[in-house]
Amino acid sequence: MILKVLGSESAGNCYLIESDIECLIIEAGIRLQEVKKALNYDLSKVIGCLISHSHGDHCRYARDYLKAGINIYTSNHTVDGYDMTGHRIHPIKHYEVVTIGDFKVIPFPVPHGVPTLGFFIKHPGAGSILFVTDAACIPNRFYNLNQILIEANYEDSILTNDRAVGHHISLDTCLEFLRSNDMRQVRNIVLLHLSSENSDSKMFAKTVQSVVPNASIWIADKGLEVNLSKYPF
Ligand SMILES: [Zn+2]
Ligand SMILES: [Zn+2]
Repeated sequence: MILKVLGSESAGNCYLIESDIECLIIEAGIRLQEVKKALNYDLSKVIGCLISHSHGDHCRYARDYLKAGINIYTSNHTVDGYDMTGHRIHPIKHYEVVTIGDFKVIPFPVPHGVPTLGFFIKHPGAGSILFVTDAACIPNRFYNLNQILIEANYEDSILTNDRAVGHHISLDTCLEFLRSNDMRQVRNIVLLHLSSENSDSKMFAKTVQSVVPNASIWIADKGLEVNLSKYPF
């Protein structure tokens, strides 16, 4: 299982979670051409695309993905906001399990100004994956997580503008989440959607590492690839 980061910022977000036989896309904020390139111009492995919310940096290219035959899984709010139609649209509801190939996904709500979903994903190869971005906080608690993809957008002391406050996960909120959840089985923590002005990736990674010493910490720069296998050896 490989995570490929095609974009993780306010300019555009898109992640691929890829096994030998399947690829699940999360977010449609990067051009389809880039997705094709990352998959050697073969979309046959793609089993669907989850979208967290209707902001352009997460959803802008959803209609292009649909046209290419990719199934879209998102809230009704996002479907309506982007005027998406057709049999490839799969509206998903809070806490209702959706099976997409070998992936089982539970969407849950997070506060972000517009209706926004976090995703708890189970896969036999990667274990339990948490994906959460663009949220003021994470109200839920999780057990036995193996992979955490979580936003760390800004840090109070380097905040040069306050656009993010109340809408994005600060480093402090991220740390509080990590401290108050069971981290014993976590293999990887990938920090997402860092603000270009209000963050410091080296400091963020170091601070998160000090809180979860047993996990590998990654910054989701464009092009990053991480082995998400539960048992990599
Ligand atoms: Zn965003
Ligand atoms: Zn957003």
